[in-house]
Parts: sequence; structure tokens; C-alpha cells
Amino acid sequence: MSYFDTLGRPLRNLRISVTDRCNLRCQYCMPEEEYVWLPREDLLRFEETNSLVDIFAELGVDKVRLTGGEPLLRRDLPTLVRMLAAKPRIRDLAITTNGVLLSEQAQALHDAGLGRVTVSLDTLRPERFKRLTRRDDFARVLEGINAVGRAGFKGLKLDSVVMRGINDDELVDLIEYGKRVGAEVRFIEYMDVGGATLWSMDAVLPRAAMLERLERHYGRIEPLIEESTAPADRFVLPDGTIFGIISSTTAPFCRSCDRSRLTADGIWYLCLYAKDGTDLRGPLRAGASPQAIKALIIPTWQNRTDRGAEERLALAHRSPLLPVGELRKDPHLEMHTRGG
Ligand code: SAM
Repeated sequence: MSYFDTLGRPLRNLRISVTDRCNLRCQYCMPEEEYVWLPREDLLRFEETNSLVDIFAELGVDKVRLTGGEPLLRRDLPTLVRMLAAKPRIRDLAITTNGVLLSEQAQALHDAGLGRVTVSLDTLRPERFKRLTRRDDFARVLEGINAVGRAGFKGLKLDSVVMRGINDDELVDLIEYGKRVGAEVRFIEYMDVGGATLWSMDAVLPRAAMLERLERHYGRIEPLIEESTAPADRFVLPDGTIFGIISSTTAPFCRSCDRSRLTADGIWYLCLYAKDGTDLRGPLRAGASPQAIKALIIPTWQNRTDRGAEERLALAHRSPLLPVGELRKDPHLEMHTRGG
């Protein structure tokens, strides 16, 4: 059974934040040192997440991505992976991680049935990594990336947020590194999401500029023509290397966005930019039947009108989405709570 929203977008793709905690402090996502964290007793237990995924899967969700915060901080994550991987309806089970704890966990995650891994890596320079993330974990991330192939995963992706004046001189280096480790690199335009309190339009390197710089180095770059709801537009270099660009800031993909997000405490959001979400933890803990929870989810999706990134693009003057004070009042507005 498929359910469609007001723009004909299917309910298919669920991103689950398993924790709002993170072991890095990336300046484009968590520029503060301390945050207002979700109360621990509110976090969904694995059995609760599992029940909600069963419900979503019956409504058409077939892609699940675990994220956070840093998902590998959630204790015993392979247990949740094993539960989700056992569901025949879930065709694609993936994780997005900063890679710091990956070398310790890659094998257990693979053995538990995780399908794909995306590692976020914005720089190949240790000093720059330290400045950008405020942690000295660069070597551990590289070890984590090396562990992915050894554990048996195929299709590793590396996601890099590109910021003008910060790491925009590393596009070629990142692609070359991707070739060496067998990963497809995806460049992400810096987004003005909740948490990105240092964001400015000047720091965004638009897709067109990324392509121009890469063509200057590699020669002609061809777009890959494909039918897909994936956020990245993919391109081919003259030597056949494929890379992607996610241009959520200058050319958003809202019209095909089938993603929704479940926070670690069970609030369901229909858009990264949405101000409000639907509480699923409350009804679940109050003993609501799967039918009753479906009756909440279905009309919410069918009434979905969200096109947050397009609305931001239409603004004459863009500045950070929310000031720190607003984020402190409602941590659900943070990217690291929503799950990027
Ligand atoms: N901790 C995990 C990680 O680092 O991959 C998962 C959570 S993180 C919020 C998910 C993704 O969101 C990362 O790839 C990160 O680079 C991206 N992200 C966070 N803030 C962003 C921003 N302001 N613009 C673009 N991407 C951002």
C-alpha cells in the first residue's frame, strides 16, 4: 500500500535518529560546545523503534537510514540493526556516521545485516579536521573508513559539506581519496538548517561553482541521467569516476523529497525545516494499537505540503534559520536532533 502527499510524493524513506548526542562539534552543525539534550527516559527503546518501523513499513516505507547525532554512540546499535534487517519490506537499510567509532563497530554492523554505510568527511587535513570538528579524531575516521570494506560492505559513500573559504580547496583531493578507498564522494552545499548558526550565503559554494572547479582540473564532466529520488545529482569524470552533488541550498529537490524523520524520542518530522512534528512516542507508550498509530500517520502524510528548502530559496535575504536562543528552547529544531 502506498500513501502520497499533496505533491504526489510517496511515504517511502524514513531517517531514524537513534541519539541526539554527538562526539564531534562540527561548526556547520553543532557550533556550541554544550547543548540541551533530550531526556534519556524519552528516547525510544529498540523495541519501540522496531514497532514503529513495522508500522511505517506496512504503510510503504522501504528505505531506512539510521542517523543522529552520532548513531554509533547509541549503545548496542547492532541489536537494533538486526531487528530492522529482518524485515522483508525494508529493502535498503543504511547508516550515516562521522566514522569515529566505525573501526570498532563495522564488522558487528555488517554481521547484523546493515546494508550500506555513508561516512561524513569534510577534509583530509588533520589540522583542519580539528578546527572544523573541535575534536582530534581525524586518524580514527580514516581507520573507520578502511574498516568498511574489510567488514564486507559495498557501496561506501563519503559526504562532504563544502564551505567557501573553509574546505572548498579540497574538492579534487576528496575525489582522489574516494577513488583510493573505493567510495563515491558526494559534495553537499552548506545548508541553513537549525543548528547552523554560523551559516551565511557567502559561505555556500553553489553546485555550478563546484562543477566549474572540478572541470578545470579534470576536463569535461557529464551528468548521469537517472530516474531517482536520491538527493544527489550524479556526474561522471572523464576517467569514469562517479561523484554526486547535493544542492539543497541553491537547487533544492523538494518536489521529489520522500524523506521523513523520526527523532530519537519519537517525534516524526516531514521536513528538515519543519517547525513542528507529530508525537508518536506518546501514543505508543500509552498503548495505542498499530491501527491507531497508522490512523495518525496516514492523514499527516496525505496532508504534507512541506517544501522547506524551496521556501528558504525564495527568501530575498537569507540568514541562519534560527538563533541559538530559539534552539535552546526547543532542541527538536536542531539538525543533530532531527537526524541530518
Ligand atoms: N553524526 C553523523 C554524521 O556526521 O554523519 C550523522 C548525523 S549528521 C547531522 C548527518 C549529515 O548532516 C552529515 O553528513 C553532516 O555533514 C550533514 N550536515 C549537518 N549540518 C549541515 C549543514 N549545515 N549543511 C549541510 N549538511 C549538514
